[in-house]
Amino acid sequence: MKSLDQLVRPNIWSLSPYSCARNEYQGSEATAFLDANENPYNNPYNRYPDPMQRELKDIISNVKDVAPENIFLGNGSDEAIDLTFRIFCIPGKDNVVSIAPSYGMYKVCADINNVEFRAVELEEDFSLNADKLLKAVSTSTKIIFLCSPNNPSGNCLADEEIEKVLHAFDGIVVLDEAYSDFAFNESYRHRLEEYPNIIVLNTMSKAWGCAAIRLGMAFASAEIINLFNKVKYPYNVNLLTQQKAMEIIRRKVDVERWVNNILNERETLMDAFTYLPCCIKVYPTDANFFLAKMTDANRIYNYLVKCGVITRNRTTQPLCRDCIRITIGTPEENNALLAALRKYKDENL
Ligand SMILES: *Cc1c(COP(=O)(O)O)cnc(C)c1O
Repeated sequence: MKSLDQLVRPNIWSLSPYSCARNEYQGSEATAFLDANENPYNNPYNRYPDPMQRELKDIISNVKDVAPENIFLGNGSDEAIDLTFRIFCIPGKDNVVSIAPSYGMYKVCADINNVEFRAVELEEDFSLNADKLLKAVSTSTKIIFLCSPNNPSGNCLADEEIEKVLHAFDGIVVLDEAYSDFAFNESYRHRLEEYPNIIVLNTMSKAWGCAAIRLGMAFASAEIINLFNKVKYPYNVNLLTQQKAMEIIRRKVDVERWVNNILNERETLMDAFTYLPCCIKVYPTDANFFLAKMTDANRIYNYLVKCGVITRNRTTQPLCRDCIRITIGTPEENNALLAALRKYKDENL
């Protein structure tokens, strides 16, 4: 790996971050808070939230088994994705490499930051070929984006190939594990010491059932986390989000039950799909969704919309011709999908 000062944009490396009032104050026995120009009334919403989210990070540290100094919390993992560009990539000069198909935000953030985005197709079965991916790397490649389980294909990437990328690439590897709570592989967040160049992403939006509160996590070396903290908005995670996140973590048992229900429903739904005449193939998945190759994705997608069932049409994505991505819903939602698709057979085939 290159040293961090070689990888980080010079202006970010030398940046003195904004120092907010609540960051400077660390004590506990204050009786008057006259430092931040807040309104003294309307407690607790009058006060700026903890800019470093210390209480929440301690709780997340326990459930994720990662030290607080290795955790960044953001406004969704989307904030962490955007910050990696702003920390490492010089606009108009550096580039990033990513797998395709994958999560759309990597390219959108690259475009917003005027950073060249190099997409390398996965194999036909959506597996990763590290050697092929690494061929796209140049001396200006700062970041490689991997996603496992991958969206939209659903599969985990092979450890052997991920590790090959981590060893061979001298820049930053972002490994997006948004769906890891549905998979049985060991998370790379436990291997931060082994791989100082990794940034592992996780989110409360999927298994934790909290997409609305916008809470994303990045796990990385303390040095990389410090860079995130320098660049982020001072109060990037609001009080309501911090409180709701702590509440849902206390309900961990409910979350585990949801995940189990979803995995059981996934098996039932995928099995039913194999009997549908309009379904050509279902791809194996480690996430709370699966990809299905249909006879005609555009027609079936539009037909389902008319039936009030919304799926994700992925037919224009690389390797995804005629594929729709189906999120596992409640048994009622899944039955509505199946009932509609069974009728599609009756009316159109
Ligand atoms: C859904 C998803 C996310 C979640 O992003 P948030 O901003 O945390 O809601 C991140 N990465 C991938 C691959 C996803 O599919």
